[in-house]
Order: sequence, then structure tokens, then C-alpha cells
Amino acid sequence: MKVVVIGGGISGLCCAYYLRQRDADVTIVDRAVVGARTASSWGNGGWIAPAQAGPLPEPGLTIYGLRALVRADSALYFKPSYLPHLTPWLLRFWTYCNERDYDRGTAALAALGRPCFDLVDEMVDDGIRFDLWKLGMVCATAKPEDARKVLDSLDGMRRHGFELPDDILDEDEIHALEPALNDRVKAGFHLAEQWNVKADTMVDGLATKLRTMGVEFLEGAEVIEFERSGGVVRSVRTGAGDVTGDHFVLAAGSWTTPLAAKLGVKIPMEPGKGYSFLLTPTVMPRHGILFADIHAGVTPLGDRVRIGGTMEFSGYDLAIDQRRITNLFELARGYVDLERPEYEEPWAGLRPMTVDGLPILDWAQPYRNAYLATGYSMLGMTVSPPAGKAMAEMIVSGSRPEVFEPFRVDRFPRAIARRPS
Ligand SMILES: Cc1cc2nc3c(=O)[nH]c(=O)nc-3n(C[C@H](O)[C@H](O)[C@H](O)COP(=O)(O)OP(=O)(O)OC[C@H]3O[C@@H](n4cnc5c(N)ncnc54)[C@H](O)[C@@H]3O)c2cc1C
Repeated sequence: MKVVVIGGGISGLCCAYYLRQRDADVTIVDRAVVGARTASSWGNGGWIAPAQAGPLPEPGLTIYGLRALVRADSALYFKPSYLPHLTPWLLRFWTYCNERDYDRGTAALAALGRPCFDLVDEMVDDGIRFDLWKLGMVCATAKPEDARKVLDSLDGMRRHGFELPDDILDEDEIHALEPALNDRVKAGFHLAEQWNVKADTMVDGLATKLRTMGVEFLEGAEVIEFERSGGVVRSVRTGAGDVTGDHFVLAAGSWTTPLAAKLGVKIPMEPGKGYSFLLTPTVMPRHGILFADIHAGVTPLGDRVRIGGTMEFSGYDLAIDQRRITNLFELARGYVDLERPEYEEPWAGLRPMTVDGLPILDWAQPYRNAYLATGYSMLGMTVSPPAGKAMAEMIVSGSRPEVFEPFRVDRFPRAIARRPS
């Protein structure tokens, strides 16, 4: 069985890893070099955080609320000139901002994410080398009521078996637990079930392992067309030649939307741009930190920390908007005391954001030998190992694993008028 995986980000690499374990011949085709900065998998926060994996559309978000976010310095930003294109996506997104969909999505993501720690441990045991810290996380806020709000929002995950604290910690307790926090922080809580990786090292480690396992890499090869006949995909046309296969996995991150469209498959997914940079703090954190007030995550990486945040809808544009990254830096500076006054390694990546905040893990219907492994939004490092494993099972066995049921592509579209309360 020969499988062609399109996309060498964390999604494609994990699919390839588990397919190769099942003796498939695998070729990864990427338009860039695997491990390039242009992939979302390069400079992200690297949190493996299944207990925080609720879908982005949350109950109570209103169109009026969304309108207030067209400010260039807000954590969530819609570029005004992109809004006409984005509006149908946005309206569909809004239909999922209700309790019922949120609870269902949380249950589905909890089930998918549950094995992630075991699978990451197995990768390490299998000789895959990457920077991994098992530090847990603290959520830190200036006001106790905001820490409580974040803790309450994770309640769904408690019901699905993740360990969450019963109450928030006061100022003394949170500072005793995490000495890197400054005076602004007055409350918070601790979450044990979270690990951090340095994302680019995980990509490099997986790619190195795959080469030793005999996976072929075709890099600098953008897939521009699919050759089809008799209801199946026969090959992909790339700038570096055609590649034939028995099965084809579309794992091209945000770019899976235009790629799937070449097969006539519509997926309601938009790129959600985020920024990150490195800082050298005076005191190195002992945990990952969520500064919920400014919607920023802190990942300890040994001698520096990576700060990641913002969600910007401005199309397939990887340019760094200086106003937005400077704003994130200024906000972070209020919470992190710095050893060196400047940030390093500014980076932007595009998260593949579906309208309901859930992955798409399915056949690229009507094709029975083409598959979608995308839509991981803010959770790619968390869900890629379990999703890749189950995707390999689906391809080899020919049947959909139970855990993929909520991630079918035919759950779309939903009429915009319908918004369950
Ligand atoms: C600021 C930020 C912070 C984040 N923090 C976290 C976090 O802490 N934890 C977490 O779990 N997730 C996090 N994420 C989300 C995570 O980065 C993504 O979910 C994940 O990287 C998506 O991986 P992917 O493989 O689907 O896509 P990508 O990594 O984008 O890979 C797609 C690949 O497909 C290739 N490609 C595209 N089009 C074609 C084509 N036509 N032909 C051939 N190849 C093609 C690209 O070159 C690329 O290599 C964060 C994201 C951002 C932006």
C-alpha cells in the first residue's frame, strides 16, 4: 500500500509515522522544506494540553461582541478588507456559539486528546528526539474573578475525566507555586495535565525518525492538481513531477481548504493568524503560564520563554503586522519581568480554523482513497499524535474509527439561520 501524505507539518508527520508503523510505503510531499518556518507547526506555543481543548466557538459570543473586535490591537482581530470574504464563515462560526455544540465539541476533543501523553511518551521511547517538558500549567490573572471564570470554562473537561482543581489559588499561593509571576498577578490555578514541547524540534525529530523508517520526502513540491479516474485519485501533480499512490492524505494545514477544493470538496476553514516571539525573563517559569487577561501563553524553553497569542483573520498572509506583535509584546511585558528588554525570533503562523472549532478527520468524500487530516486550530500539537494514529487505522482497515465520528466532513454545512440556544 502506497500512501501520499500532502503536508509535512505536525499533522502530516504524525499520519506518516503511524502509517509507516503499519508497513505502508509513505511519501510526504511538501511545497516547502519540512521544518520550514512557514508551517504553523514551527513556532507555536507547543502546549500539549488536552484538558484545555474546548472548541473556540464558546456559548454567548454575539455578533455585537464580534463587531467590537475590529481593533488592530485586540487579541481577536478581523481585517476589515477581509470581512466580505470572511462573513459566511463568521456567521457559521456564530451558529456554534451555544451550550449544546460546545458540550458536544468538548466531549469529542476530550476523547480524541485523551491518549496524547501516552503517545508522546511512546515516541520518546521509539527514539524520536525533541525538547519536551512535563511542567503543568498555571493560569494567572490580575483579578480572582477572572481566574475563576477560566476555571469554570474548563468544567466540561472535568466531566470527561481530566483533573482540574476545585478552586482558585489566592495571591500568596499562586506566587509560592510559580515564582516567575510578578506583582500584577493576584490569583490563578494550577493544572497538572499539560506538557510543553519546542514545536520545531518535534517536527525535526519526527522527520528525522521518518527518514530512518524509510519514508520518502518530496520537498519544494507544491501539489497543484489531482489526477482522478473511476472515482479514485490516481496521482498528484506537483511542481517537481507527478506522484502516484493508492491513498492520499490532505494534511496541508490552513492550505487544505484550497487543496480540497481541487477535489471539489468544500471545507469551511479559514486561516487564523497567531504571533509568537522569545523573551528572556528574570526568573524562568516552572510551568507553562496562561495569562488569561491578555490571552497570551508562555512556554518555558530552557533559557528563554516563547510568548504566543492573538487570532487574526486576514487571509493567507504570513506577514507580521508590527502593530499587533508590538502590542502583544507590550502586554506581555506587563506580566513578565525581563532580563533583556527586547523580543527575539518574531514569528507568525496560520492556524487551520474550522467554523465549529473541531478537526476534520474523514474521507475527502466522495473519494474513498483521499482523506482529510486538518482543522486542528489551536490544538495541533495536542491532537496530531492521536489523530495520526487513528487516521492510519482508518486507511489500513478501510473503516472509520469511532473517535472520528464527530469529525466527519459531512457535518457541514449548517444553515446559518439555525442557532440552537
Ligand atoms: C501562535 C500560535 C500558537 C499555537 N500554540 C499551540 C499550542 O500551544 N499547542 C497546540 O497544540 N497548537 C498550537 N497552535 C496550533 C498549531 O500550530 C496548529 O494546529 C498545527 O501546527 C497545524 O499543523 P498542520 O500540520 O495541520 O499545518 P502546518 O504546520 O501549517 O503544515 C502544513 C504543511 O502543508 C504544506 N503545504 C501547504 N499547501 C501545500 C500544497 N499545496 N502542496 C504541498 N504542501 C503544502 C506547508 O508547506 C506545510 O508544511 C498554535 C498556533 C499558533 C499560530
